[in-house]
Amino acid sequence: MGSPEQYSKYHRHPAKPVSTLQHAANYAQIIAVNCSLCRRSINYLATDLVQVLNPARPVDGPPFSCSRCGTAEYISVKVKTPAAGDYGHLVIRRLLGIRSVSEWGNRPLGEEMRKNNSRGRK
Ligand SMILES: [Zn+2]
Repeated sequence: MGSPEQYSKYHRHPAKPVSTLQHAANYAQIIAVNCSLCRRSINYLATDLVQVLNPARPVDGPPFSCSRCGTAEYISVKVKTPAAGDYGHLVIRRLLGIRSVSEWGNRPLGEEMRKNNSRGRK
């Protein structure tokens, strides 16, 4: 076989410290995600991404799969610092809300569950 080192897809210069998403958020940086297959590029704010992703993840890893081709295979990530001219112009995919899907409550074992739709006050 003789396969030498398998280079990590996101290999970086060894002298450069690993920059995390949290680090980029601290500096209010823009995470520009580009899919070279679809030629699609989306700007996110690091401050938005840390709310839904692990803040300790390397900042240059693709945050999501490409929504068009469904893979992160062709995605490259650039970290940018907003320029003065970006304000009011640069389009950012903002996090508009986080929908939580699970709801929990204590019920006696064996009690039949009904949907919690009506929240009438009694
Ligand atoms: Zn794509």
